[in-house]
Amino acid sequence: MDYLPIFYRLSEQACLIVGGGEVASRKSATLRQAGGRVTVLAPKLCDALRALKDEGHIHWLEKRFEPEDVEGYNLVIAATAEREVNEQVSKAARKHHIPVNVVDCLDLCSFIFPAIIDRSPIIAAVSSGGASPVLARLLRMRLETLIPPGYGVLARLAERFRERVKKTLADGELRRRFWESALQGDIAELAFAGKEEEAALNLERRLSATDSNGTHTGMVFLVGAGPGDPDLLTLRALRLIQEADVVVYDRLVSPEIMNLVRRDAEKIYAGKQRSLHALPQDRINRLLADLAKSGKRVVRLKGGDPFIFGRGGEEIETLMEESIPFQIVPGITAASGCAAYAGIPLTHRDYAQSCAFVTGHLKDGAIALDWSRLVVPHQTLVIYMGLQGLEQICAELIRHGCPADLPAALIQQGTTPQQRVLAGTLADLPEIVSRTEVRAPTLVIVGQVVRLHEKLAWFGNELTKPG
Ligand code: SAH
Repeated sequence: MDYLPIFYRLSEQACLIVGGGEVASRKSATLRQAGGRVTVLAPKLCDALRALKDEGHIHWLEKRFEPEDVEGYNLVIAATAEREVNEQVSKAARKHHIPVNVVDCLDLCSFIFPAIIDRSPIIAAVSSGGASPVLARLLRMRLETLIPPGYGVLARLAERFRERVKKTLADGELRRRFWESALQGDIAELAFAGKEEEAALNLERRLSATDSNGTHTGMVFLVGAGPGDPDLLTLRALRLIQEADVVVYDRLVSPEIMNLVRRDAEKIYAGKQRSLHALPQDRINRLLADLAKSGKRVVRLKGGDPFIFGRGGEEIETLMEESIPFQIVPGITAASGCAAYAGIPLTHRDYAQSCAFVTGHLKDGAIALDWSRLVVPHQTLVIYMGLQGLEQICAELIRHGCPADLPAALIQQGTTPQQRVLAGTLADLPEIVSRTEVRAPTLVIVGQVVRLHEKLAWFGNELTKPG
């Protein structure tokens, strides 16, 4: 280890920056963020520094550098364009044992700046020891996505409760377990959602419950898993499935996504196959409530978005009735996913100014749709669950005034490696589909935008052309 990472309290410390350009201005921002009192020494200031000076945020010494200028400072940075001046600054600072950084001159530095992930009071710093600042920054970007912005809120919360928890749980091991569970589950999620007070309330409740018998009510997360490609999960969905105690999932959730679920989480299949529901809806509602009541962190994982033909509303009704805390995490719905991966924009300035999502689900052999409202020019129609009733759907659309040659496409297993697009018109799509072995799930898109598929298709190469 060539450098020791330490966290230095800069608050109210006198810092000197030699140089008046853009780089100096960036460094002054960093130092000020950490509470440093910044003096800039330079014959001239750039506009940004001048503005800071005018607003009284920095102090300006209008002069050229001389070695005795470093005296009295706790930290010195050289950011001039002249190597010679930078060398003088470095030498003078070292002589007085003041930590010094010379921008882009590793050999003149006694300390270097890391790439910073600021979730104050949590701070993570990454350094490549000067070997590759770009690599350090790339790593920081990865960490940025892993550490939600709300981590700071969570840390503040922990700080607020620290003493109380210590009093309640004298045993260090019990305390560690309490925090491990409190900082990962529903309380953390509330903090990440910016609801600090609600999180505090939950923590309060959890603490009282822990006091007596150690049990607490869990929480349900209704999570959209997207259309299939695991890369289309939201960061939040990924985090939740990696922290869940139980995952109740549908048939539409792909095995690749189930592979990302925490290994020792319980996985319950809730089915949802056409006409073959593994668990009836009211049983699912009950199950979610009971699991949460037993203190579990439950993820209800659904294909696409939970609020688009996902019965999400019904599932949370029971939770609301029983005052079980829950959160809803949106997902990429099949329409967005399939459209993007099939190269069919759902709206387009020339072809479609609106877009309707409908279900083609058959009830007693019929489709209950208000056809006349759907037959609108310049509108894209996306039909979920439309495979069984495809023939009927196309016929009704034509009967209600759609041109028979209106482009239409059926997308099978969209966004997955098995994706296939069958394109045709309202008149011939049912025929094309009947000649092909089609695998669920499938989505139907109707409208002029389907024409663009030929031009814009980019994903995979197993595109099946009509005819
Ligand atoms: N909540 C889901 C929809 C559930 S209804 C969402 O927002 O996407 C189930 C229907 O969604 C299927 O019958 C099919 O029409 C569509 N669907 C879901 N995933 C799909 C996929 N990967 N490819 C094609 N259609 C899909």
